[in-house]
Amino acid sequence: MPPPLPFPTRASDAHKGDLGRVLLIGGSRGMAGSISLSAIAALHTGSGLVSAAVPDRCLETVASFHPCLMTIPLKQNSQGQFCTDAVSELTQRIGPFDAIGCGPGMSTSEGAIEVVRLLLRQRNRKRVFDADAINCLATMGWPTTATSDAGPIVLTPHPGELLRLTGVAPSERDGQIDAAQALAAQHNVTIVVKGGPTVVVAPEQRWTNDNGNPGMATGGTGDVLAGMITSLLGQGMSPWDAARLGVWLHGAAGDEAAKTHGQAGMTALELLLAIPKLTAAYE
Ligand code: AMP
Ligand code: MG
Repeated sequence: MPPPLPFPTRASDAHKGDLGRVLLIGGSRGMAGSISLSAIAALHTGSGLVSAAVPDRCLETVASFHPCLMTIPLKQNSQGQFCTDAVSELTQRIGPFDAIGCGPGMSTSEGAIEVVRLLLRQRNRKRVFDADAINCLATMGWPTTATSDAGPIVLTPHPGELLRLTGVAPSERDGQIDAAQALAAQHNVTIVVKGGPTVVVAPEQRWTNDNGNPGMATGGTGDVLAGMITSLLGQGMSPWDAARLGVWLHGAAGDEAAKTHGQAGMTALELLLAIPKLTAAYE
């Protein structure tokens, strides 16, 4: 099936700065791979400039995965997770970014929660909350805060994270989708309800994806999706469009990876490396 909407185009005289400066925030000791998968996915989805903000201890590991990534070291606690001092450093650095994705491998340390609070205050900036950023939102009681317009945000929970956000169990799939849509309406955000198939909900819209396969049920694939959606937001798409095109691209890359590596043999890395075949086919 073709993508639900066209991919962003680039002008013949495009400059890397025109294609979106994006920042991925996350990682912790033992979880450097997650945020790296997100950041590299953003590069392959077309972002001109991609930076990863990670605890200092992860910096060399993340930087060494891809030479085109820039890295921002933030202060860490004794477990190699963001500490509360990380927030003032981050505040100084987030100015230039068109879109920010947060959460993969981040932990829910006190510092991580403060990072999420900082991002919630950036109401005019496009943001993706995934993984531990969603767990931080649940911990701080965000789902039950008063109705508001949170600004351009995409949440990408898997069923366990959605349980923490809404209280509805993964066994109640339809109930989870309804609860996600109610939460989307409460905060005026877009929510990607991941699974097979993934459903994207906004306050008054619902869209079901039609590609992907069970080979994608393997660690790290969700991190790749978060990087893709952050990249598309940075290239100028709305949350609703970036979420749908990102989910479609992710499923198509998963299908491509399964063709060459099989559902059992593929990992998030093969899915990541399949992205250019898809983006090339539609440019
Ligand atoms: P996460 O659990 O955050 O790593 O995300 C897993 C990703 O893989 C999500 O985008 C899911 O939609 C996708 N996925 C997992 N299992 C399946 C499946 N059986 N069919 C299609 N997509 C899947
Ligand atoms: Mg995940």
